[in-house]
Amino acid sequence: MTIDYKLPNGKLLRISDCVLDIFVMHQQISFNVPESGGILLGRVFEKYIMIESASLPGEGDKRGILFFHRDKRKAQSIINKNYEESNGEIIYIGEWHTHCEKEPHPSFIDKWEIKRAFKKSKLNLKYLICIIVSSDKLLGNLWVGYYDGNKITQCQRVS
Ligand SMILES: [Zn+2]
Repeated sequence: MTIDYKLPNGKLLRISDCVLDIFVMHQQISFNVPESGGILLGRVFEKYIMIESASLPGEGDKRGILFFHRDKRKAQSIINKNYEESNGEIIYIGEWHTHCEKEPHPSFIDKWEIKRAFKKSKLNLKYLICIIVSSDKLLGNLWVGYYDGNKITQCQRVS
């Protein structure tokens, strides 16, 4: 199963089932577990962008109940490795993290981090995607944001 979101540029953002599995495994179902997160990698097709993998939290990442800061060097090495091994087809698409919220929404810091990632990352796209995973047992309640350098737009699910 995949889930599609409509991007402001008219393309679809398609989240693959293996990435949805990663989201489910890391849902922050109580405040007893820290936030999880990582980067999103995928491929660009004519009508849609496919998120094919999501990195997992690990060594070097700072995790708390209300925050997640990923290790930048580790993330960049994952991006470079995928890019090289796929001959430039698998690219960095954005970031994901969890919230202990049924209806997730970005915090002030999240918005600041999205803008910073856009400025500091080597982007292959003209925009950056940020996904926040809810604590809802029925997944699909994701907050999907699109940042084009000007404003963050929440994307609506279409299927
Ligand atoms: Zn957050």
